[in-house]
Amino acid sequence: MRFTRLRLNGFKSFVDPTDLVIHDGLTGVVGPNGCGKSNLLEALRWVMGENRPTAMRGAGMEDVIFAGAATRPARNFAEVALVLDNADRLAPSGFNDADTIEIVRRITRDAGSAYKANSKDVRARDIQMLFADASTGAHSPALVRQGQISELINAKPRARRRILEEAAGISGLYQRRHEAELRLAATEQNLARVEDVLDQLA
Ligand code: ATP
Repeated sequence: MRFTRLRLNGFKSFVDPTDLVIHDGLTGVVGPNGCGKSNLLEALRWVMGENRPTAMRGAGMEDVIFAGAATRPARNFAEVALVLDNADRLAPSGFNDADTIEIVRRITRDAGSAYKANSKDVRARDIQMLFADASTGAHSPALVRQGQISELINAKPRARRRILEEAAGISGLYQRRHEAELRLAATEQNLARVEDVLDQLA
C-alpha cells in the first residue's frame, strides 16, 4: 500500500480545501516557519487514528478544527482524506476489494469524529488496525516529530521496545491479544455466575 494523496479541509491552518498529490520517491515539504509543515504530518497521523490531543499539539481533539483568524471565522468541522494505492492488494480483508482505498476522518464540533473507508462508515479501531498491520499508523516510527530523536535516545527500554514492535508490524497483534484477554476475563466471570446459579439450584 502506498499513500498517493492527502486532502485537508478545515484542518488546523488548512482552512481551504487542499489536495496534495504524493508521487513515487522522496517528497520534501519546504516553507517558512509556521506555514503548516508539521500540521501536514499531524493530518497524516490524525487520519490514521491518532486519538491523543497532545500528539496533535492541542488540549482537546477539537483543536484540530480551524480556529479562525483575523479575516476568517472558525470552521465547524475538519476533514482529512488519505488515498492509498492498493493495486498490490496488501490491505487486510475488509478493505481489500478495491485498487484504491480512501480513508476519510471528519470531526464536527460537539459531535466527535467519524471515519469512512471508500464511503462506507467504519470504526476507529478498524482504521487503526489497517495501518498497524501495514507497519505504519499514527504511532509509526516512520513519522518523526521534532524532538523525537532525543526522546528516543533517552527512552526507557520498554518504550523503545514498543517502537521496535510497531516497526515490525506486530502491534496490531498485541491489540488483538489484549481484546481477546478482556473477552476471556468477561467469559470467566459469566461462567462463575452460572456456577453460582447452579449451586443455588442444587
Ligand atoms: P516550523 O517550521 O516553525 O516548525 P511549521 O511549518 O511546521 O513551522 P506548523 O507548526 O505546522 O508550522 O503550523 C503552525 C501554524 O498553524 C501556526 O500559525 C498556528 O497558528 C496554525 N494553527 C495550528 N492550529 C490551528 C488551528 N486549529 N486553527 C488555525 N490555525 C492553526
